[in-house]
Amino acid sequence: MTTSTLAMEESSAAAAAVALLPEDGEAQWLGLAERMQRCVHCAEENLGHLEERLLSGGHELLRQMLEKAAQAKAAAVPPRCPVCRQPLHRSSGGHGTTIQTRFGEIRVARARGYCRRCHKWRFPADVALGLPPEGTQSPAVQEIAALTVSKMPAAEAEQVVERLVGTKISAATLGRQARQQGRRAQEKRASLDQPMSGPAGRVQQDRDLQMQLALEPFTLVIELDAWNIRERDDWGHSAQKRAQGEEPPRWHWVYGGTCFRLGHRGETASGRATILSRGYVMTRGGIEALREQLWAEASRRGLGRTNEVLIVADGAVWIWKLAGDRFPGARQRVDFYHVSEHLWTVARTLHPDDASAARAWVEPLLAKLKADDGCAVITQLEELRPRLEGEAGAQLDREIEYLKTNRARLDYGTAKARGEPLGSGAMESTCRQYQCRFKRPGQFWTQSGDEALLCLETFRRNGRWHLLFPHSAPIGPSNN
Ligand SMILES: [Zn+2]
Repeated sequence: MTTSTLAMEESSAAAAAVALLPEDGEAQWLGLAERMQRCVHCAEENLGHLEERLLSGGHELLRQMLEKAAQAKAAAVPPRCPVCRQPLHRSSGGHGTTIQTRFGEIRVARARGYCRRCHKWRFPADVALGLPPEGTQSPAVQEIAALTVSKMPAAEAEQVVERLVGTKISAATLGRQARQQGRRAQEKRASLDQPMSGPAGRVQQDRDLQMQLALEPFTLVIELDAWNIRERDDWGHSAQKRAQGEEPPRWHWVYGGTCFRLGHRGETASGRATILSRGYVMTRGGIEALREQLWAEASRRGLGRTNEVLIVADGAVWIWKLAGDRFPGARQRVDFYHVSEHLWTVARTLHPDDASAARAWVEPLLAKLKADDGCAVITQLEELRPRLEGEAGAQLDREIEYLKTNRARLDYGTAKARGEPLGSGAMESTCRQYQCRFKRPGQFWTQSGDEALLCLETFRRNGRWHLLFPHSAPIGPSNN
């Protein structure tokens, strides 16, 4: 390419760029600058006022520029079917649509053509602009809805969005969009999880997601927990169900898991425990769904490249069944706090009115647990058994049974020596964070609605938000 053709290309690119400016763009910029200038000399106004003037005053200018750029982009799209890539027939231009964007509504005219292979009318520009089929919300609006509604109720989101973005998007639109994006996230999750069952898929995904592979041997820690959510799927049918002698179910389990490399555990400067990088799974789809999602996430985090897997959880039966099914050979540990709660229950039964006596009884037992001597604890409880009668005796039987069932999972001395977690606190705190959104007073969910939003929140936590919204840089804690 010669110098002169290069110069010509540059000048035509500059001319095309000028075409994206609004006709009275210069006057608009000047008007905006004048409003900023007034603020400069106003003693009562600070930098916040300047920011506010720029946001509100610049909005219309930016909206106009966006409209022109979107129109130019739509016009540049070739008349091919966006699904099968075949040329479109009976193509005609000028089909207008109104798109809701973060700068307000824009109008775009685009071409429509018929695909003889798909037997459908197509608007190729809609796909190029990132609009969903039959949707009129821009990708940024889709993301805003997904981000805010997975954090707060839609009515609140409407106010926050209006204040921060400067554009009003109704609560109904935000809610609907968020659910739609959540369903898209569920489809994406399925398409990410499916290839993890084969080695080629795993290698490809390591590359795509830029997962950091470990160079040295490591222990993969998996923690599991569950919490419940209130749903009203039978809305309007409650009376009828009760008449049939059926109490409509309200509370349902949400199952969650997290996985991380042992070496990624650390402390913040203030001494708070933290994990550098971890994967999350959270689902209302039942234990089966959790098992498959967790296995895929654990595979992404290094399962299959490590011989050492450690599962830590409270004593729930479903957890150990899942662990045995999907992670055979993994070491299992029951959460130390849960076990100590069981011993405290016995202590309070023995010393109902004497807290210090209860403590004096329980502390040596906790010390034995921490020295890997769970068997001695069980023996001591068994020796105690003949002294208790009635309900107290039955309760002690239950506690002995609990400890015996979990006998092989009480290796807290080993845990301490190896620098491993004694409990599943990391997962419990994650569950509490999810509950802040999903367990507000007076809230009811539907199964499809809560799964969609849980899936969105989990995408963000896993650092994969950009897979849903490619215009965004990876945001949010992939690590926390
Ligand atoms: Zn087609």
